[in-house]
Amino acid sequence: MSSHAINRAESETGDPLLLTPGPLTTSKSVKAVMVHDWGSRDATFLKINEEVLARLPEIIHGEETYVTVPMQGSGTFAVEAMLTSLVPPDGKVLVLINGAYGHRAKRILDIACRETTAYETAEDTPPDLTAIDEILKNDPTITHVFAVHCETTSGIRNPIEAIGKLVARHGRRFLIDAMSAFGALPLDARETPFDAVAASSNKCIEGVPGLGFVIVKRDVVSGAKGNATTLVLDLHDQWQNFEKSGQFRFTPPIHVIVAFHQALKEFWAEGGVQGRGGRYAENGKILIDGMRELGFRTLLPADLQAPIIVTFHMPSDPAFVFQKFYDGLSERGFLIYPGKLTVADSFRIGCIGRLYPKDMRAALEAVRDVLTTLGVATPLRKAA
Ligand SMILES: *Cc1c(COP(=O)(O)O)cnc(C)c1O
Repeated sequence: MSSHAINRAESETGDPLLLTPGPLTTSKSVKAVMVHDWGSRDATFLKINEEVLARLPEIIHGEETYVTVPMQGSGTFAVEAMLTSLVPPDGKVLVLINGAYGHRAKRILDIACRETTAYETAEDTPPDLTAIDEILKNDPTITHVFAVHCETTSGIRNPIEAIGKLVARHGRRFLIDAMSAFGALPLDARETPFDAVAASSNKCIEGVPGLGFVIVKRDVVSGAKGNATTLVLDLHDQWQNFEKSGQFRFTPPIHVIVAFHQALKEFWAEGGVQGRGGRYAENGKILIDGMRELGFRTLLPADLQAPIIVTFHMPSDPAFVFQKFYDGLSERGFLIYPGKLTVADSFRIGCIGRLYPKDMRAALEAVRDVLTTLGVATPLRKAA
C-alpha cells in the first residue's frame, strides 16, 4: 500500500503498545518477577500478599479505617463482591449511570435481587447534584448510592467528591467503582466519605490482569456477614479468612499478585497518585492536542475529560474506514479501542499504562501516517 518503510513501535518486551483502557502495557520488570513458582500457603508468598494488601489503603489516605479485601478475577468480580456483600437484602441502591459500567452495576444488583433505582444521564453528561439531592430527599428507603469515578465508556470524570459529600449529608452510604481511575485520579477518604471502593490490578497501577480488590471500611466489612449472594464473592468471608489466617480461601492468582507487588513498588517510586496521574495527564494532553491538530474532535470538553482514555468522534471523510485505521495503527505497533457509545459514532485512545510522552508523540506520527496512507486529507474536514 505505502511505498515508505513503516516504523513499528514496541514495548520493552517487543510487544505492541496498548492504547486501551486495560489490560495495559506493563513494564518488563513487572512481567519478569513472574518467572518463579510459589506455594500459596508458603511464607514467601503470604508476605508478598500481605505487603500488597497493607499498602493499598494509603493510596486513598484510608490506612486508619480501611482494609483491603482482594478478590480473584477481573475488576467486575470486585465490583460484584462489593455490591452484593455490602448491600443487605433489604437495602436499596441509587445507581448513577452514564455508561456501560453503571449499567453493569445495575445488572449485578438486579441479579442479586437488590432493589435499585437508576438515575441515568447521557454518556457525555455527569449526574446533576441537584437531581441526586432530590432523589435522596424524596426516597428515604435508599440506603446506598453507587457511582463510577471515571466512566471508561467515554472517559468522563464523574464528580465523585461532591457526590460523596452529598450522600453523606443525607446519611446514606456510598460505594465507588474507581477501576480505571484508581492510582491516577486522587480519591481522598479524609475528604470524600465512602464505605468502599473497587479497583483492579491491571489498570493505573500497571500490574497484569487477574486480581480485583475492594478497599472497605473495617467496620463496614465486619458488619456484612450473611449479606453475600454467592460463596466465592463473599467479601466478609474473604476478609474474615485473612483476619484469621492471612490466606485466601481458594487458590489465589499468585503470579498476578507477585507482579502487582512489583507494580506497586514502581507506582510508589514514580511518586504515587501525583506522579502516576501527572504522567497520564501529560500523555493525555499530548494526545488530545495532537489529534485536534489533525482535525479530530473529542467527545468531551476539557473539564469533563479524565486523563485515562479519550473518545474521538469518527471522522466524516468517506476515505476514513475505522477497520483500516485500526489495522494501520496495529501494523505500526499501536492498539487502539473501538467506541462503545450510544450518543455518537466514535473510537477511543487510552493514555494509561507504561506509556510515556514519547510514545504518545510516536502514536500521533503513526495516526498521521495512516491517514496519509488511507488518502484522508488533514486537517480533517468538519462534519456537515
Ligand atoms: C475496567 C473496568 C471495570 C472492570 O472490568 P473488567 O473487564 O472486569 O476488569 C469496571 N469498571 C470500570 C469503570 C472499568 O474501567
